[in-house]
Parts: sequence; structure tokens; C-alpha cells
Amino acid sequence: MKNLFKYWDDLKDKLNNKYIMLFLDYDGTLAPIVSTPEKALISKEVKYLISELSKIPNCKLAIISGRALKDIKNIVGLKGIIYSGNHGLEIERPKIKFESQVSARYKATLELIMEDLKKRLYSIKNAFIEDKGLSLSIHYRLVDKKDIPKVKTIFHETIILYLVRNKIKVKTGKMVLEIRPPYEWDKGKVVMWLLARQQFALKDNGVFPIYLGDDVTDEDAFNVLKNRGMTIFVGKPKPSHARYYLKNTDEVGEFLKRILEIQEGKLT
Ligand SMILES: [Mg+2]
Repeated sequence: MKNLFKYWDDLKDKLNNKYIMLFLDYDGTLAPIVSTPEKALISKEVKYLISELSKIPNCKLAIISGRALKDIKNIVGLKGIIYSGNHGLEIERPKIKFESQVSARYKATLELIMEDLKKRLYSIKNAFIEDKGLSLSIHYRLVDKKDIPKVKTIFHETIILYLVRNKIKVKTGKMVLEIRPPYEWDKGKVVMWLLARQQFALKDNGVFPIYLGDDVTDEDAFNVLKNRGMTIFVGKPKPSHARYYLKNTDEVGEFLKRILEIQEGKLT
């Protein structure tokens, strides 16, 4: 994995005069990771940069988050960009609305699991269950360290039978466990779906995808884009499908600024 700014001189030429599709994860990428999801706020500067980029004709923006669509739209609060929530299960943009169809049976299963987890995690301080409609997240960032194994054990005991019967899927992230519908749909799939639509809208003129993300779930997107766009991991470098890294959300802000400068023709 390479430090993106070290290679900037070569990369910026690649970006010049290109139609760019910028895919951005939210938590840990645009907003620093904080103790509880509702505190994870995007800085004014980054919000401004996204808003400016979204007005540029040669640039399309999509926020791809694990949060529920309603939540991510609310927290970013900008119009004219694409939002995808629940790791791609929900997509919305001015002219498209897509929600993955899940069976009534899956919804009933999710309900049962939620009730069960509520009861069983009740005694563990600061374990937090987030109902995201099509999925459930169990956050344990604020749980006492010694209780974390207990949270994981309870989680696995609760879901194991549903998991082996293929009624649900499980994903793990940063201090979060997640229950999802039992089919293959991830950030990689949603990125390809959006990219194909954009390519079609532009009559197959080239679209250059850039993806920025910080977590395990972003690896699916890095993987599908590794040979056709720019993939950027946010955080300390580690084994990943991403080719480049940026150290933190501040550097992401700097990167967005540079993209804006290129797009506005200020950089030569
Ligand atoms: Mg993230």
C-alpha cells in the first residue's frame, strides 16, 4: 500500500480531464470515528468540498455507508449526490430509488433476533443495538473491555442457528457486529451497479472511479475497483485490496480539496 500524496504528481495527471465518480464511505472516512454513531460529524470544510464537487459537471459523488439510508442522508444533509445506506441495500439519488427486496420471513427473523439480543445483552453496560430496518448492528465500542468477549459470545449464540440455516448473513466492522439479509450484496456490488448506470448515462464514455473507505466492508469495493480506478484506504497502512492510503479524515479533506482544484482547472 502506497502513501497517496507521495505519488500525487503522477496521479494528478491521470485525473486531469477525466469524468470522475467519487465513492465515499462515511464513518472513519469523511467523519472521524467517535464513541457513538450520532456524534460522528463531518467537518464544515469537508461538507463544503463535497458540495462544491457535486456541482461540477465532470464529477459524480456517491456516499456509500453502512448506516441506514435515512440516517446517512440526514447526517450529510446535501442534495444532488447519491446516497447508499445499509452497505448498498438502499440507494437513492434524485431520479433513482432502490431498496433491496427482502422477504417477510427475513424481516420476522430479524425481529426475533433483535428481541432476543435485547434481553440477553440487557445486563451488559453500553452494548447498543441499532435497528437499521434491513439490518441490525450491535455496537460495543463503549462496552467495558472485559465484557467484550461476553458480547461476542451472546451474539454468536443468538444467531448461530439462523446463520447455519442461511437465513441471515453476518458482517463484522470496527467495534460492530452486523446481521444482514442472506444474499450477496455488498459495497463492491453497489459500486459496480452505480458505475454501470453512470457509464450508460454517459453513453459509455469513460468514467474514472475513486473509492475511499476505512473498514472491512470497504474491501469488497477496493477489490472490484483495483484494476480500473483509484482505491484509497483511510488509516494506518495494513494488508488491503486498496492500492493507496491516506492517514486520516484530515488527509481525506486535503485529497478532496486537490480533486476540486483539478476539476476547477486550477492545477496545471
Ligand atoms: Mg467506515
